[in-house]
Formats: sequence, C-alpha cells, structure tokens
Amino acid sequence: MEYFHAIEPGSGRAAAPAPALFVSHGSPAAALDRDSYYESLAAFAKKLSPAAIIVVSAHWLTSGAVEVTAIEGNSGTIHDFSGFPDELYSREYHAPGSVTLARTAADLLAAKNITVALNHARGLDHGAWVPLTIMFPEANVPVVQVSIPWPSAPEMLFTMGEALRPLRSRGVLPIGSGGMTHNLSLLEWEKKHAPAPREAAAFEEWVAAKLQDRDAAELFEYMALAPHAAAMHPTAEHFLPLFFTLGCARDGDRLETVFEGFHYAALSMRTFAFTAAD
Ligand code: ZN
Repeated sequence: MEYFHAIEPGSGRAAAPAPALFVSHGSPAAALDRDSYYESLAAFAKKLSPAAIIVVSAHWLTSGAVEVTAIEGNSGTIHDFSGFPDELYSREYHAPGSVTLARTAADLLAAKNITVALNHARGLDHGAWVPLTIMFPEANVPVVQVSIPWPSAPEMLFTMGEALRPLRSRGVLPIGSGGMTHNLSLLEWEKKHAPAPREAAAFEEWVAAKLQDRDAAELFEYMALAPHAAAMHPTAEHFLPLFFTLGCARDGDRLETVFEGFHYAALSMRTFAFTAAD
C-alpha cells in the first residue's frame, strides 16, 4: 500500500486523516455557476491534498453485488442528465482511476461480508464529477466509485462506510454524494434563490441536529422520525450516501458545515464533513 501516503511529505510526521465528506450535488448546472455553493466547496477542497478519492454517488445503483470501478488512466465522464445547457455535455473530467485502490476497497468491503465485484468499464457519473470538478479542477487525484446496492437500507451504506473508514488514514478522501433533500416535483427551476419551503427547512434542521449528535440510530429511522421525510425523499437514493459518510466518521471527529442553503426553493445543498480533531 505504498501508493498512499500516511506521512506528511517532508515532515516525517503522520498526516491527519482525510475528512469524510457528504456533498449535496444539486443540479448538474452547479458545475457552471460560480455561486456561494461553488466557492464554499472549492475553498474546502483547497485545504486538502488527498492521495485518492472514493465516491458513493446517488447515480450509481446496482442490484446484486456492490461494484467498484477499477480503471487505470482516464476514468471517463458520464453525462447522465438531460435538459441542461450544451456546455455541460462537452465537459469532461479526466481524473485517473486506480486499480490498486479499487482492489483494496473491494477487499475491505468483502471483509464485512458484502458481495463485491470490480467494474473495469464504468466512468464517473455526474454525482461524482460535478462536485469533483469544483473541488479538484485539475483532475489529478485518482478517483474510484463504489455503487449503492439497490434497494438497500441505511444500515448497509453505514456498514460500507465503516469498511472503508480505515482508508482515511492513508490519505483517501471518502465522499457520499447525494442530496440532503431531493424531490424534483417541489423545485422552482426558474428561481434558484427562492426561499425554502417550511417543510424542507424542518426536515433539514432535524437531520442536522441528529448529525451533530452522531445519532445514527435515529437517522436510520428517518422515514418514521424526521418531519416531512416522505415529501423530501420520495425515493431513498439521494439520501443513502449520507449514511456512507456517517459510517466513515471516526470517534472524536468534528462536524464541519461546508455549505448551508437551498437552491430552486426545496433543494437543500447542505454539505458537511467529519474532520479529524486538531
Ligand atoms: Zn443527483
């Protein structure tokens, strides 16, 4: 595993573990708009120098095995959306993959009795490359994607996070990429900065409080316990990556809010990280 650095270059001392990040990736147009969300994500990433990145995105669901991308060279860019500006379809994100990291991640998942398979063909979906193009525009950090087994309960994603948590101390940045809220029928596409509806704000506030308390047990039951959960997440795929990030959290991490705010009325863009305490 000499590929990953555990030692701060030149200092001889152990580097702090990489944070575990949850990104609300929003609309693909987030890659184009240099707004406060964009600037917050970029500023957060400037503090980091990860050896590699692992992304669990809402846009890769697999039935059966959990799949892990295992590609050397350019991963490829998937434009898995429609109805957005032409400029987005010509955007490419040329980050390399890493077969070494893919194999390591697969072994760690298998050790938790998770059925896992390497995927040697799939590129990066927009849940991965949209936030990464903001955070690491030079695309020089290797990226591996891990799929969401579908359907699955929050506990499964939490276990996947636990399995991959040790990679943080090898300089690997784990990212859960989804949405703190995600109900497209509630969005006002013409009004990016419309005020958030009360229901969306109440749901987000509940989740933020449980994250602060690291109350995984209550978060697992969000459908029953969180206000307006069914309206905010008619389907679970955009919320499940949050449990991956939570599983990656270590005791003693502090919760850092990277961005707080809504787009298009009801789309929460709340983005947070569990960061090793100084
Ligand atoms: Zn999405």
